Amino acid sequence: MTELVDKFGRRVNYLRISVTDRCDFRCVYCMAEEMTFLPRNQILSLEEIQRIARVFVALGVRKIRLTGGEPLVRRNVMSLVQQLGQLPGLDQLVMTTNGSQLATSAPLLKQAGVKRINVSLDSLNPERFRNLTRTGDLSRVLAGLEAALAQGFESVKINAVILKGRNDDEIVPLVAFARDNGIDITFIEEMPLGHISEHQRDECFMPSDEVRSRIEAHYQLHPTTHNSGGPARYYRFEDSPSKVGFISPHSHNFCGDCNRVRLTAEGRLLLCLGNEHSVDLRQVVRSTDDDTLLRQAIVDAMGLKPEQHYFDLQDEPQIVRFMNMTGG
Ligand code: SAM
Ligand code: SF4
Repeated sequence: MTELVDKFGRRVNYLRISVTDRCDFRCVYCMAEEMTFLPRNQILSLEEIQRIARVFVALGVRKIRLTGGEPLVRRNVMSLVQQLGQLPGLDQLVMTTNGSQLATSAPLLKQAGVKRINVSLDSLNPERFRNLTRTGDLSRVLAGLEAALAQGFESVKINAVILKGRNDDEIVPLVAFARDNGIDITFIEEMPLGHISEHQRDECFMPSDEVRSRIEAHYQLHPTTHNSGGPARYYRFEDSPSKVGFISPHSHNFCGDCNRVRLTAEGRLLLCLGNEHSVDLRQVVRSTDDDTLLRQAIVDAMGLKPEQHYFDLQDEPQIVRFMNMTGG
C-alpha cells in the first residue's frame, strides 16, 4: 500500500517522469515553433531520475510512465529503462512516445520490461501529419507502431488530440485504424499549457462528447468500467476488442480520483497537471546522498497536492509551462 496520501485522502501510486524536454517534433498544441530547451546541467541526470524513481517505488508507487518531450530522443535512455524495469515492487513500467524512433527501440523496450506503450497519432494523412507535428514523418511513426505491435506488449494504444477544423474529420478513420489493428485509442481534449500562437485554443476546442457522438454515428459504443489507472473513461464496441477512451480535463473533471504526480525534466515534482504547486527534488538530490531526506521531501510534498485543476481556454494560460516540460 502506498505511503503517499494527500490532504484529500487520495493515494498516489503513479509517477509520470518527463525524461527530457526535447523532442524531434513540434506539435502545434504542445510547443511553439521556436523552442528554447533547458541547458543540460538543469536536466536531471539518468542516475538522478533512477534514484528518485527508486524512492517513489519504495514509498508504494506501482506504475511509472516515461514521457517527455520525446523520451526516446534522450541519449542513453535505454539504460534508465533497463534499470527501472528491474526495480522490485514496480508493477507497470510504461511509455508515451511519438513513435518516431520505435521501429528500432521497440524490441529493446520490450526486453527491458516495458509493459505498455502509448503512441501519439493525430492524423493518418502524411501531409496533415507533417502539418500538425511541424516536422514529423507519418511513415516512420506507422513503422514504429507496427514494430511495437510485433513485440507483443501487454498493450499498444493510440493517443489522439483532436482540433476542430484541423483533424476532426479524422476521428472516424483513426477509430477504424485502431479497430483494424486490434488496439485501443484514447482521445484527449487539448489543454491550455504554455503560450502558443499557431492557433486559438478556444476556437479549435473539441469536447470529448462531440468526438464520441461523431464515432457513434458510425459505431455503437457502450460505456465500460475499464480503468487503465489513468484518467480516461472507456467505451467498447459490439464487434471489436478495441476500446475507445476519452480524457476530458475540461468537460469531465477527473481530479476526484487522481492518483498521480509528475516529475519534470528539471526535477520539479508537480503535484497537479493544471496547477503550479511543486517541490524542487533536483535541489534535494544534488544536496544530499541521504535517501531518507529525499523520501521525506516526497512524503511532505503530498500535502501540497491541490484538490482540482481549473482550465479556461479563453483566458491567458495560467500554466505557462508547455506540455513537453510537464510530462504529458
Ligand atoms: N512526445 C511523446 C508523445 O507525443 O507521445 C510524449 C510526450 S507528449 C507531451 C504526451 C501526450 O501529451 C501526447 O499524446 C500529446 O498529444 C499530448 N499533449 C501535448 N500537448 C497537449 C495539450 N496542450 N493538450 C492535450 N494534450 C497534449
Ligand atoms: Fe513532441 Fe510529444 Fe509534444 Fe508532439 S506532443 S511536440 S511529439 S512532446
